[in-house]
Amino acid sequence: MIIIMKPSATREHVEALSQYIERWNVKANPIYGAGTIVIGLVGDTGAVDKDALLRDPQVENILKVQEPFKLANRSFHPENSQIELAPGVVVGGKKLVVMAGPCSVESEEQIIDVARHVQEDGATVLRGGAWKPRSSPYSFQGLKAEGLELLHKAHKLTGMPIVTEITNPAHIELFHDKCDCFQVGARNMQNFELLKELGQAGKPVLLKRGFANTMEEFLMSAEYIMAGGNENVILCERGIRTYETYTRNTLDISAVPVLKRMSHLPVIVDPSHAGGIYWMVEPLAKAAVAAGADGLMIEVHNDPAHALSDGAQSLTYESFHETMTNLRAVAQAVGREL
Ligand code: PEP
Ligand code: MN
Repeated sequence: MIIIMKPSATREHVEALSQYIERWNVKANPIYGAGTIVIGLVGDTGAVDKDALLRDPQVENILKVQEPFKLANRSFHPENSQIELAPGVVVGGKKLVVMAGPCSVESEEQIIDVARHVQEDGATVLRGGAWKPRSSPYSFQGLKAEGLELLHKAHKLTGMPIVTEITNPAHIELFHDKCDCFQVGARNMQNFELLKELGQAGKPVLLKRGFANTMEEFLMSAEYIMAGGNENVILCERGIRTYETYTRNTLDISAVPVLKRMSHLPVIVDPSHAGGIYWMVEPLAKAAVAAGADGLMIEVHNDPAHALSDGAQSLTYESFHETMTNLRAVAQAVGREL
């Protein structure tokens, strides 16, 4: 349920009304936008006395939100959310955010070299997996705690904020001071215990869409994190499983406009895991930017042929440079900056 306040409503009144509403055992979230003030009610709103609220002279209207996701719903928060990962690195603004780096952190030299190269070409966030959720238990599983330390070192040297995947709620404390954004991978999108813990983690979360999940399920997973008090969730479309086997996954480009319509959360696209082949990264990235994505996550490796994971889809430094150059024109055409 959302209560739309009159534009003339005062902040004191909105705060007092929000407190009053909580007598019905629901959580009231006042949201102040430019020209819009709404109070979003979360929980079982069955007991809320709608007629009493409509008699409030500062209340304009009351709407029932049909969708099961509330905090992630655009009607709760009509303006786009902007999520700051580091000073000046904001996801959801005019400037697109490119998160780039290797699939896995492999060594100190590797992560620092990749960080320096991608930063030079305009990436503002460094990605790299320390714990790798691999399909086979015999594949490289990541450098784990050592990988986190190396990411932190790269951060200290370059200033780039770090996004890295967390697979286990027991690791949150360990990750906390070593990264700027927790990544939840496609395979863990519905690991609800992890999501609930990240709701309390006090740091932004990059939530990847599961490869067989609907947009509503995706937003319900975001809701899990938000319901715990962490509203800094970035959605990432990374391809879904279809009958097509030529590509690793099928990039669901429609997810971008749909998610942006359903939700106020920023949406980024990972063309690397979608296509699964290096030469597909640039065209898919262009499509994502044209469709309105707020950023991209791109895998870049110093030596893709010898990468310990996802070498086939990793860009070389040269192809990343070229991709970034070509993306600038697309960004400009849709009123964004890169
Ligand atoms: C990754 O980012 O390296 C990764 C494993 O991605 P996904 O969870 O989308 O498969
Ligand atoms: Mn990968």
